[in-house]
Amino acid sequence: MSRTIYGPDHQDFRRTVRGFVETEAQPNYARYCEQRLIDRDLWLKAGSLGLLGLHVPERYGGGDAADWRFTAVVLEELSRFSSGLSSSFGIHCDIVAPYLCDLTDDGQKTRWLPGFASGELITAIGMTEPGGGSDLANLRTTARKTGDGWLLNGAKTFITNGSRADLVVVAARTAPGRASRGISLFVVEAGTPGFARGTKLDKVGQAESDTAELFFDDAVVPPENLLGEEGRGFVYMMQRLPQERLNCAVSNLANAGAVLAETLRYVKSRKAFGTPIGSFQHNRFKLAEMTTALDVARSYVQDCVLAHVAGELTAVQAAKAKWWSAQVQNDILDNCVQLHGGYGYMRESPVARAWLDGRVSKIWAGTNEIMKEIIGRDLGI
Ligand SMILES: Cc1cc2nc3c(=O)[nH]c(=O)nc-3n(C[C@H](O)[C@H](O)[C@H](O)COP(=O)(O)OP(=O)(O)OC[C@H]3O[C@@H](n4cnc5c(N)ncnc54)[C@H](O)[C@@H]3O)c2cc1C
Repeated sequence: MSRTIYGPDHQDFRRTVRGFVETEAQPNYARYCEQRLIDRDLWLKAGSLGLLGLHVPERYGGGDAADWRFTAVVLEELSRFSSGLSSSFGIHCDIVAPYLCDLTDDGQKTRWLPGFASGELITAIGMTEPGGGSDLANLRTTARKTGDGWLLNGAKTFITNGSRADLVVVAARTAPGRASRGISLFVVEAGTPGFARGTKLDKVGQAESDTAELFFDDAVVPPENLLGEEGRGFVYMMQRLPQERLNCAVSNLANAGAVLAETLRYVKSRKAFGTPIGSFQHNRFKLAEMTTALDVARSYVQDCVLAHVAGELTAVQAAKAKWWSAQVQNDILDNCVQLHGGYGYMRESPVARAWLDGRVSKIWAGTNEIMKEIIGRDLGI
């Protein structure tokens, strides 16, 4: 079965993205990992190729692509090489984009979208707090209205692109005691008085993608930086989380597919007891299991992509796609490490890197347990 959901335009675009990864990202990748930061130059290059502003209206410098499959192509090509790159760019061009495109007035669009599309403004989103991320409705960061706008107080943690983002979409409580109905969204800009960042967090994987804690100590946010309507922040996040979870699912499977393909090459050439290791029945069965799991998961996720393109993806479908793909990915990565033997445990080997990088897919953007909560509640349980 080799059904594809992509047409010639997507495949042409795929060649552009693959070229970007091979010629721009790969040669500099080791440095990004060392400095734990992707160079601004790479962002600008991605912007110039139209990878960042895919869904930004043309008049603000974007590609105006209504078809989300173009985003899926970007995610797949980045994830085939590195889930950290996919995460950093994906947060910007796919997770933050719908907030800045859909919830902004013309003045805000003019201020932010051209730089967003060109890579001059790198963005992040701050939902998770040191006190917890799963229970989003319970967030503690506050925003108090003053004569000059808003005063933000609190902290966010694990924020991708956090240490260098020029703009951060921040969820804060504007009405104490109103739970999910008391949350609003703000754009906090670099240089805002009272806004500070911690040092880059030391993750076990994805070294190239910077992750930071953010602090708001009477941070002064002007009234024109409120996103959408006051008090509707939780609804806005819930409306956009299915796309974020589909983004994860597409990335998870592309990453697992690339590692499995590399492992297949390895097991055909590596010999033990005078025979290629892949030909031992146990290993052949493992490979058969992995390729089956990947094909079956890919089929479901592709259906979800088409549903999303048609505007029909539900939160439950996205939750299923996210947790299942993360599980399949992690199982595949672990088996592929095993098939590489000792080399699979060396940091220099791509499979070891993918294994460390991939573990977080069961945690971020809503843990596997939270995904199962969403699915379970839908069963009326
Ligand atoms: C590398 C990385 C990048 C990230 N990037 C971002 C970002 O850019 N922006 C952002 O806002 N956040 C980001 N996050 C945060 C991420 O979304 C959270 O870590 C995640 O939602 C889980 O929240 P938590 O870490 O507070 O865990 P907790 O909520 O404390 O959960 C801990 C454990 O308890 C379980 N648990 C919680 N509630 C339930 C329940 N009801 N039933 C069963 N089990 C439950 C969880 O599944 C988990 O296993 C990132 C995280 C990482 C690691």
